[in-house]
Amino acid sequence: MTDSKKFSFRTKCVHTGNGIDKETGAIRRPLTMANSYRLPEDASTLNWSDPNQLVYTRNTSANQIYLQEKLAALEGGEDCVVLGSGVAALAGVFFTFLEQGAHIICSNVSYIAVYRLLQEYFPAKYGIETSLVDTADLAAVKQALRPNTKIIHIETPGNPTTRVSDIDGIAKLAHSVGALLTVDSTFASPYLQQPLALGADLVIHSLTKYINGHGDAMGGAVIGRTELIDKIKRQAMVNLGGVISPFNAWLIMRGVVTLPLRMKQHSETALEVARFLEAQPAVAFVAYPGLASHPQHEIAQKQMSMFSGVMAFGLKVDVATHNKFVNSLELIVPAVSVGHDESLIVYVGPDDERNHFYPPEFQNGHLRFSIGLEAAEDIIDDLKQALAKCGF
Ligand SMILES: *Cc1c(COP(=O)(O)O)cnc(C)c1O
Repeated sequence: MTDSKKFSFRTKCVHTGNGIDKETGAIRRPLTMANSYRLPEDASTLNWSDPNQLVYTRNTSANQIYLQEKLAALEGGEDCVVLGSGVAALAGVFFTFLEQGAHIICSNVSYIAVYRLLQEYFPAKYGIETSLVDTADLAAVKQALRPNTKIIHIETPGNPTTRVSDIDGIAKLAHSVGALLTVDSTFASPYLQQPLALGADLVIHSLTKYINGHGDAMGGAVIGRTELIDKIKRQAMVNLGGVISPFNAWLIMRGVVTLPLRMKQHSETALEVARFLEAQPAVAFVAYPGLASHPQHEIAQKQMSMFSGVMAFGLKVDVATHNKFVNSLELIVPAVSVGHDESLIVYVGPDDERNHFYPPEFQNGHLRFSIGLEAAEDIIDDLKQALAKCGF
């Protein structure tokens, strides 16, 4: 599809990046499992490390290029780099844009690998300064700004608290000191939230989650201006080797076609389940951006079209009974990850290394719950019978 700009989001999900295979006439891009591509007759002027030319699959691959085209269109960005995992995408951003003496402001609740990279690895190895702040609080972000701030990194909604940060407000603060705003938008997907349009410089996704949506392939992506994305490609793929398998790129390309249908259903079912949970006497709290009780519900309404499928909640019970509850579930699967077709739950106990950053209601541990595509009544029935087995 040549000019995807005029089409709606749903149409781009189906068509952008797809095309007719020249050799067979197949109306779908084939899976190209090859490490190398035929060199031109005269390779003397070839840039062996060009991340946009088909030379070697660690530079880029055919299926990766198709997926990059689709994801750039869906986020409204100029360009995209697809990598082997969400963490490869995050690390790619940090390795590319942080140098010795640089300062980064990061949300104090973020994906665990981000926390460790920015709080432990980068300061110790490269002398990078990190400020962890509550990015739901604009004044706290403003106070943390320094002349050498190079990046403000937020995750919204955040994993696992579902805290929401104001993308537009933080973009203005970042740009006031010439820093980049990078947004991990994994929990929302481009269907529910468009950070670039709100002023972000780079959007990051774990494709492993909603974008693939079927729990069978890992990947990561960064979307933004070509000038920035090109730098990440060179670092994160060619030099650091974080490349995606063509097969995973092909699977994710297939998964993303139904993204709008899935996100709508995840969001509708999650709201119903969140309201059910909130009404149960056994439930201590429910954190879901779609509930009026969520502390950033208003900002969520402003910058998201629906509220996705992830929530956190807690029961008024001890660790052992939380575990009993999870193990009593018959449909909902106890496993990590989010954004799959099946509902997933994980109990994170009070000994979690970041527990002190979580809100007070999380101090007894929390259940992170990713609502799948099953019928809402089946999910609710499963929760009811598990609560009953715990004496409720
Ligand atoms: C899962 C996740 C990641 C990491 O992605 P992987 O594909 O597992 O490496 C990053 N950010 C968020 C918000 C996530 O949920």
